[in-house]
Amino acid sequence: MQGSVIYGPGDVRFEQRDDPTITESTDAIIKISATCVCGSDLWDYRGINQITEPTPMGHEYCGIVQAVGSEVQQVRPGQFVIGSFFASDNTCAICQAGYHTSCIHRQFIGAGGAQAEYLRVPLADGTLVATPDIPSRELIPSLLAASDVLGTGWFAAIAAEVRPGNTVAVVGDGAVGLLGVLAARQLGADTIIAMSRHQDRQKLALDFGASDIVTTRGDDGVAHIKELTDGLGAHSVIEAVGTQESMMQAIRATRPGGHVGYVGVSHGVELPGQELFYSHVHLHGGPAPVRRFLPELIDLIWNDQIDPGRVFDLNLPLSDVAEGYQAMDQRRAIKALLWP
Ligand SMILES: [Zn+2]
Repeated sequence: MQGSVIYGPGDVRFEQRDDPTITESTDAIIKISATCVCGSDLWDYRGINQITEPTPMGHEYCGIVQAVGSEVQQVRPGQFVIGSFFASDNTCAICQAGYHTSCIHRQFIGAGGAQAEYLRVPLADGTLVATPDIPSRELIPSLLAASDVLGTGWFAAIAAEVRPGNTVAVVGDGAVGLLGVLAARQLGADTIIAMSRHQDRQKLALDFGASDIVTTRGDDGVAHIKELTDGLGAHSVIEAVGTQESMMQAIRATRPGGHVGYVGVSHGVELPGQELFYSHVHLHGGPAPVRRFLPELIDLIWNDQIDPGRVFDLNLPLSDVAEGYQAMDQRRAIKALLWP
């Protein structure tokens, strides 16, 4: 098969790779229907994460089950399935509590490289969720979004304790931030403030349910949020970037007693203890346990309640994966969908 491999900063290649095979009796092999480039892939592409050897890329996927191992009972060949970026058993105490990305048996799917024609999924019964039927091509982008960005935006909103009538601010206008807006709308928030300086992203945020746009950032952005919230700050703030500036912006935009849901992969963030102590802000986040939300999200998509696939503003054949990375790196695209 063919798939993407990163060799170093700015160097993603589409090349021949070994076909995945069943190596554990709990594995499934799926034929990828669609995959995509993640904002977190850009940490590698930009050389912020070091690449020590040629590495297969991609951890977002949906597709048709081709084969299953002898112990797999619920997942069957021919099903259309979606899974999260971490395989999980869905049975341990941590999974039962809803934190599948910390499953005691978790395995990172990205190790197999989902930007490819086929993918091995460990712990298939615990990881994969099947759709009611084979979806139309039009539905596939939204189902793919559930694999990571929608599930992550959803978890951010849950972690930020978004409730009906709340005011929510969203730091970050990438695909996750935009889908955090969608999640906050679905969860009944009243005022949803999207922080974005890009017109195309502002428009999508408004379409997904944002009521206000703040174009400033840092201290100015915080001041702007305070102005919109009677000087108090938002009840709930979604942090979807992962930098020192974005994290402090999120904490300072939250009112005392409020909640920050942080899902931007943290890079070099250090929190000032004393400021945190006096802020009275709850912090909850981490790698989103997408598997917890998949059945509900698939149901919403299947019944045309939400259309998260709109974050894919660039569609490419998988063979053009390098262009997908470049377009996202240069912010010419919000998110690139790759069709094998
Ligand atoms: Zn588990």
